Amino acid sequence: MHKPELLIPAGNLEKLRTALLYGADAVYVGVEGLSLRASSSEMSMADLAAGVNEAHIKGVKVYAAANTFARNTDLEQAKKIIPELTAIGVDALIISEPGMLRLIRNSAPQLPVHLSTQANTTNIEAVRFWRDQGVRRIIMARELNLKEVGEIAVAVPEMELEIFIHGAMCMAYSGRCYLSAFRNRRSANEGDCSQPCRWEYLLHESTRPNDPLILQEDERYSYLLSSKDLCLIEYLSEVLASGVTSLKIEGRMKSAYYVAVVTRTYRQALDALMQQKEKYKCRQEWIEELTKISNRGYTTGFAFTEEKINETNPEIKYVQTHEPVGVVLQYDSVRKMMLIGVRNHIAAGDEVELLLPDDTIKIDTRTIVDANGKPLKEANNDNQIYLPLTREAPIGALLRQKVK
Ligand code: SF4
Repeated sequence: MHKPELLIPAGNLEKLRTALLYGADAVYVGVEGLSLRASSSEMSMADLAAGVNEAHIKGVKVYAAANTFARNTDLEQAKKIIPELTAIGVDALIISEPGMLRLIRNSAPQLPVHLSTQANTTNIEAVRFWRDQGVRRIIMARELNLKEVGEIAVAVPEMELEIFIHGAMCMAYSGRCYLSAFRNRRSANEGDCSQPCRWEYLLHESTRPNDPLILQEDERYSYLLSSKDLCLIEYLSEVLASGVTSLKIEGRMKSAYYVAVVTRTYRQALDALMQQKEKYKCRQEWIEELTKISNRGYTTGFAFTEEKINETNPEIKYVQTHEPVGVVLQYDSVRKMMLIGVRNHIAAGDEVELLLPDDTIKIDTRTIVDANGKPLKEANNDNQIYLPLTREAPIGALLRQKVK
């Protein structure tokens, strides 16, 4: 059984470090100026250089997304940035269209190129076409099932294949959609979708704006535009049997807490699968762990079906059983205390868990003290507090508690 790559989204330097801590084999990032948007899911060149350096020290690869559908006016910017990315040492560029590919081939011929899922590659001949153009890896269209992916892996074994195994699903065909551009001028085709297909919609008759009509799809209500999230944790044996090289998690705009939990959970499951092989079984605790992060209910998407409309979620809203409440900033091994940067809110006596890469441990919060040793009843976002812990906690490890 080949060891697949676990590929994690890293929307900023903090999330990249979180992915490294919890067991990513590779991360993918958006780069300021290449997705041609200054958004919260892009890194500055300085942050990217620091991130690549830290990742490479740990043997982790970094792929930079340049998967916008570039217009003429974008080409000069791309020509400027490609050599900078080469100098920083990114391990590959992710592109969506032949113009960007040609630029990279001309100015950085050694730089590996991965073809984005937005190029909608769905068959063996398309994969051979891109191989002949010098593409190293194809991120397969989400609409393919595992049988089709397996056929491509057999027919074009020299091509690396990557598939999504977890995260948000499009209601359109792999992001070919104008809804986000129309609603808030963030184009999915420029890598900047704000996922408005997941918002709640009502139908109004024009003279009665406060009297929405009910579009009822079943006994509850309509949820035509509300896909569940993809989750293949229970089917990793089948995923690996298809011959894919890389297993990708969706979510560059998701939180560091999401990154921590999905990375740790899939890392544990993949390591167990590699060790136990035929005896491997997905553990219930891994499935439960993935309900503790933001999700809209889970589906296996297109993995086992020839043709299917994305499964929708009758609840419409996101659910998540736990929320992050802090991050470890420092560990004092003499006093056996962790310095915590509080996220959201912690009160004395709260049931808080620390997420270590290989374990989850309960934290004693009966005594919370500030940096000067003064006892506190509670602490809020950005406060720094000390909490006791007898074993060392790595910097960047996250604390969480049940949503109250
Ligand atoms: S709005 Fe929804 S369907 Fe459209 S690109 Fe974004 S995620 Fe996909």
